[in-house]
Amino acid sequence: MSVTVRVPAKVNVQLGVGAARPDGFHPLATVFLAVSLFDEVTATPAGEPTVTCEGPDADQVPLDRTNLAARAAEALAARAGIEPAVHLHIAKNIPVAGGMAGGSADGAAALLACDTLWGLDTPRTELLAMCAELGSDVPFSLLGGAALGTGRGELLTPVDAGSFHWVFAVADGGLSTPAVFREFDRLTAGTTVPEPEPSPELLAALASGDPDRLAPALSNGLQAASLSLRPALADTFEAGIGAGALAALVSGSGPTTAFLVRDAEGAAKVAAALEASGTCRTTRTASGPVPGATVLPA
Ligand code: ATP
Repeated sequence: MSVTVRVPAKVNVQLGVGAARPDGFHPLATVFLAVSLFDEVTATPAGEPTVTCEGPDADQVPLDRTNLAARAAEALAARAGIEPAVHLHIAKNIPVAGGMAGGSADGAAALLACDTLWGLDTPRTELLAMCAELGSDVPFSLLGGAALGTGRGELLTPVDAGSFHWVFAVADGGLSTPAVFREFDRLTAGTTVPEPEPSPELLAALASGDPDRLAPALSNGLQAASLSLRPALADTFEAGIGAGALAALVSGSGPTTAFLVRDAEGAAKVAAALEASGTCRTTRTASGPVPGATVLPA
């Protein structure tokens, strides 16, 4: 018997970043949107805990105990007092180290898959708390939809959102999230960084479902840092906007760029132009919000 869980990528439609706290963490006010770009994690009973991965970026995914899916299975087994005797197979479609929370998604998916496989029926609130211990973005991967994240991004409040179409330009090579935060610290040194607050304009635009209203409300406090580390992203922005995208925004810590478009037709046009421009490795089109980690029928 196996259990497969499908889990979405995310884009932060607002990413407000405050100054680093003494413990090094940055307070965030972020609005997550789950988009229809999915990984699938399959849990199968096995003698020993093992991880395998398939997909275009599979060679960049660690297969040892540092894999977030393996760590999730281990944490759940320890809590239940059982052995993490499971094989986890990741069918990876979410870009790796792209700012779309792919590793976090696999962590949330593995947690749900193992909980189902082992018949533990762990209460949802406890699963969310375990997700938060695995990483700041992991609870949202379980929850999905659209949500405001505060604290380090792990304290979630669902918000209303209409459906929006996106094109994601996947860059060559990833960016390390800690490195982008360090660059943020360097760029903001000596300035007063305001406390991050949710944007009322952004939340209203998201709820309205109107892409023309959402476009000017999108914001990412890490964008300057990502662009500073990867100046070539400016060319990707230009190519997508030139092809008719309503707005461009670095996804999370980058280097994936998210383009908001009006509809599926606009998405196809912008994706084709981006691919032809040579300013990105590949593109993906998606829409959102979509549900979080979900067990697929057997
Ligand atoms: P975020 O948006 O949450 O900052 P990201 O999308 O930028 O994350 P990930 O794809 O989660 O980045 O990968 C970051 C690093 O995590 C990878 O370089 C890899 O070494 C490690 N990692 C651990 N587990 C996984 C996994 N299941 N899939 C991908 N990367 C993983």
